[in-house]
Amino acid sequence: MKKGEVHKLVKTVEAYCAERGLRFTEPRRLVLEIIAGSKTPIGAYDVLAQLGKALDQPKPPTAYRAIEFLQENGFIHRIESLNAYVVCHAGHKHQGSQFLVCDSCGQVTEAHLCSLPKDLERKTQEAGFALSSWSAELHGQCRQCSGA
Ligand SMILES: [Zn+2]
Ligand SMILES: [Zn+2]
Repeated sequence: MKKGEVHKLVKTVEAYCAERGLRFTEPRRLVLEIIAGSKTPIGAYDVLAQLGKALDQPKPPTAYRAIEFLQENGFIHRIESLNAYVVCHAGHKHQGSQFLVCDSCGQVTEAHLCSLPKDLERKTQEAGFALSSWSAELHGQCRQCSGA
């Protein structure tokens, strides 16, 4: 995300939190800026390292709690297979998340398919399974890397 976009995102989150009476603390804002400013998904450890440049010796729980808050409110997503985080480009809570992960350059693109594919929906219903959330991570090569 470019600087201007990061700034806009921060404003959006600020307004969202104000509306719902949630606290948008400085560590939360900084962590959002760090994740949004990263070109590729960033792990919690690297978030903490960068947070250390802005805050005086932040404790690990400060970073983890900020990450948890941002994730719970749908502003960032966790890419399970990379154990790293990206910002949500839609700024909303979705029922599901789908990501195209480039194994060459590490870029992650979010594909906004907000409902469960019909086949999967049928399978979960048949199994009597109460679905709460789902995510799909598709690995391969992005347009640049595959030269397509
Ligand atoms: Zn999203
Ligand atoms: Zn790539």
